[in-house]
Amino acid sequence: MRKKIVAGNWKMNTTVPEGVELAKAVCEKAAAVPENIGLIVATPFTHLASVGSVLTGRVELSAQNCADHTSGAYTGEISVAMLKSTGCKWTILGHSERRQYYGETDEKLVEKTKLALEAGLGVILCVGENLEEREAGKHFDVCTAQIKNVLYNFTAEDMKNIIVAYEPVWAIGTGKTATSAQAEEIHACIRKVLADKFGAQVAEDTTILYGGSCKPSNAKELFAQPDIDGGLIGGAALKADDFIQIAMSY
Ligand code: PEP
Repeated sequence: MRKKIVAGNWKMNTTVPEGVELAKAVCEKAAAVPENIGLIVATPFTHLASVGSVLTGRVELSAQNCADHTSGAYTGEISVAMLKSTGCKWTILGHSERRQYYGETDEKLVEKTKLALEAGLGVILCVGENLEEREAGKHFDVCTAQIKNVLYNFTAEDMKNIIVAYEPVWAIGTGKTATSAQAEEIHACIRKVLADKFGAQVAEDTTILYGGSCKPSNAKELFAQPDIDGGLIGGAALKADDFIQIAMSY
């Protein structure tokens, strides 16, 4: 049975003390969330060690990116070994903001995913179409290509440590959520693309999250869809109450 997960992407928000307080509040409130729902917080790099030290085992720590090299002369970059040493269990990769503003390509994502998995980090791989692509009816093709370009370089065994997040770019931080039907049809398509390469069982076992203006008021309907296994939450993850309420929306 695939795991249901609610992950918070804090993006470039909060100072370290604010992040530590937020993490403590999330952990306190997490007691109310059913055990079968996994909780993850993805903090800025600077917060990982401090937030990691206050997280209970109930909430796991994630980064939002990692370097595409293991070590050396890459000023400003953070390696997978560095992430691991903070207690990090996951890293988000391929978030649309990184694809859009920092030139993250599928080729780079293959390298980063390889390094993360080798280091024992799980990967939350984001895919999703932008508004222009949606309006041109290319959303299935775009998501299929992103999945194939990155994940088809990996094995069924690797897929045990990979979560996919479908995040339509036009729904991120805009207040415009995909309808549950729009999200479900892409999730089902992603699962089919995974099944074509890795077989039905691996596809069945892969957690596929929805992200894009997910909030307490719409989470229930989204999470009720058969192929939506939880959420990657941006803005609403910055309020412990909202984040936990979303996690309790199953
Ligand atoms: C995100 O950036 O991953 C995200 C889903 O953001 P928001 O929830 O704010 O749309």
